[in-house]
This record gives sequence, structure tokens and C-alpha cells, in this order.
Amino acid sequence: MKKVAALLLCLLVSSACREDLKWTAADKKPGPAASPAASPVAAKSADATPLPTAATPVPTRAATGQFKIIYTEMQTQSQHDLAKMLWRHGFPRRQLNILGSVYALPEDITIRVTECKAADGSDILNAFYLRETREIRLCIGFFRSIAMIYYDGTDYVKAIAHAHNVFQFILLHEMGHALIDVLKLPITGKEEDAADQFAIFVLADDLPEKDLPQAIYAAYYFKQSAATRQETYADQHGFSHQRVYNFSCWVYGTGPEHYAYLIDNGYLTQARAVTCREEWQQLKTGWLKLLTPHLKEKTTP
Ligand SMILES: [Zn+2]
Repeated sequence: MKKVAALLLCLLVSSACREDLKWTAADKKPGPAASPAASPVAAKSADATPLPTAATPVPTRAATGQFKIIYTEMQTQSQHDLAKMLWRHGFPRRQLNILGSVYALPEDITIRVTECKAADGSDILNAFYLRETREIRLCIGFFRSIAMIYYDGTDYVKAIAHAHNVFQFILLHEMGHALIDVLKLPITGKEEDAADQFAIFVLADDLPEKDLPQAIYAAYYFKQSAATRQETYADQHGFSHQRVYNFSCWVYGTGPEHYAYLIDNGYLTQARAVTCREEWQQLKTGWLKLLTPHLKEKTTP
């Protein structure tokens, strides 16, 4: 479905996009009593690797579209440092390498890590897919706000590592929007739900690397941050708590024997868990059917 040219697909409701959290001890928030999963990522304190300020294409096997990553120049040192941490973690090369080698894109999709400012100068805490320019825009202030959810006032490195996991899930959500657009995928129901499903699909199955803990980090983030959002019935997105249960249900459905702790920790109810296996299979079958015609192996001689 083609919407108006300037349509922005916003990960969060717009009213939540105007917060301006500062990375200071004074603004610290209580950290999680227990994270849903241990982070496999460890940040370091210094890095001389330059950020890619010009479009850096990730090679694909066919001469079609490419995913491209751009880190724009940041205006403040703190934002620049955050961007460097993301880049040092490999963000988002992993996603680009995986998806760029699997799907034949008819045109380029740009991923831009940048500062996003509202008219009043405050940070926009969000991520978008812009159909007009085929661009995913990831706001560095959004990354900082996610890290603040995990920050316990002492362990900055751990907070950044956890936020990196959430940000990867968010990128996959936006990639879902992008693929729906450029591949003209027929989606029924809410596109926001489909984008969430795509992220779980990529993390869980059919691609070389599985990383479902990222989805659990995302569930944790949405659960912790739900209280700060003004959600309305008219929004394109499901309510945060609904998304938490959805993420958890679909992850649980991939292997109930491995994810029973999601029920024990309140991320999933026993009643919902009954249908999760079937929900996951339906999700997986649907996305496989949508994407199989666009696999490079099918389209490249
Ligand atoms: Zn979205």
C-alpha cells in the first residue's frame, strides 16, 4: 500500500519523541534488578576507528540495490562518543551483511545514524523509515535514551552494551518497513506489527546467525519505558505492553523448552503461551512466503 510521499514510520508514538535525557549522573534512572539476558557485548573506553561519514556500501553478490550506512557528523562530543561506541560494536554491519547477501534489493536503502532535532532544538528520540528517500534514520539521542533505561548510575559500559542490543532490534524493525516498501510486499493488518514480526523472523530463523536475546532485550526496553509514553488508541503501533507480550510470545514459540523463563519473569502469560508455537509458525511461514521470491539465490543466474 502506497501512502503519502512524506509518510514517516515512527517506532514510537510522536508524543514520546521529545524527551531530552542528558547523560549525567543526576539524571540516572534505576537500573534493572535483573536483565532478561546477559549481554554478549562488551564496550571499550577508547577507539580510533573513524566513523564512515560518507556512504559506505556493503557489497552484495548481485548488481542490484545495496544497504548503505552513513554516520553523520555529530554536533556535540557526547553524541559523537555514542556514535563511535555504536560503530565500534559493529553496528550495523552484521545486519547489513546478512540481509544484503540474502535479498535482492531493487534499489539502495540508506541507514543513517544521526542527530535528530525537533523545531525547539530538543532531541527526537526515535527511529524512522522515510519512503521518499528510501532511508532508515536512527537518532543517536534515541540510543542514549535507551541506554538510560539500563543505566544504574555506575556501569556505563554495561548500559551501552544492552542498548546496543535493543538498537539492533530497532534497526531490524525499520528494515522490515524498508523491505515492505522496496519489495512491494503485500501486508495485511498493521504494518507496525509486520515490522516487529520481521525483526523476530530475522533473529530467530533462516539466516546464518541467530540472536534471539536481542528480541528479549527489546521486550525489556519496551516494558521499562512504557510508563514514559503517551499512547493512544489511534496510534499505528500496538501498545508497548502488547508489543512486549508479542515479542516474548514469538520468541517463546521458537522453542518453548528454552524460553520458559519468559513466563516466570512476567513477560508472557500462561494463557498466551498456549498459542505461541502456532503464532511463531504462522509468522515464519508468512515471511518465508513473502521473501522467498526475493532471495538472491532465486534471482541471480
Ligand atoms: Zn515502525
